[in-house]
Amino acid sequence: MQCLLLLKDSSKSGYDISKQIEEMTGSRPSSGKLYPFLHELRDRGYVTELETDDVRGRVKYKLTEKGEQLVEEIVERMGNIIDARLDMLLEQCHHCGVRLYDVKVFGKDKAGNEVSFCCTHCRDAYRSH
Ligand SMILES: [Zn+2]
Repeated sequence: MQCLLLLKDSSKSGYDISKQIEEMTGSRPSSGKLYPFLHELRDRGYVTELETDDVRGRVKYKLTEKGEQLVEEIVERMGNIIDARLDMLLEQCHHCGVRLYDVKVFGKDKAGNEVSFCCTHCRDAYRSH
């Protein structure tokens, strides 16, 4: 998965990918795993191999259109996961239940505890119950 995301902006050789993964995670993926994975992606049509003029003859991998679609899907799915996490962290308006991002109004609930509302209307509506 990570490999694919790294290919999003530019084509890279397996070596570039492994170096970047090392920078991000602190550990280098074993080439015994990385290359078979890249070859599998190639066989499934997600990446193509580019001939390079690299002196070491490293092959660069480039996302195909199909590969780019897959990356979009992965990014979207990761976005959803992050949204879901944010949802759990965010407070809700004590009256209407909307998620409170940065605007909130403080009020008290019936027991006198401090609670948050999205706006003064909700606070007043809650009070007048
Ligand atoms: Zn509200």
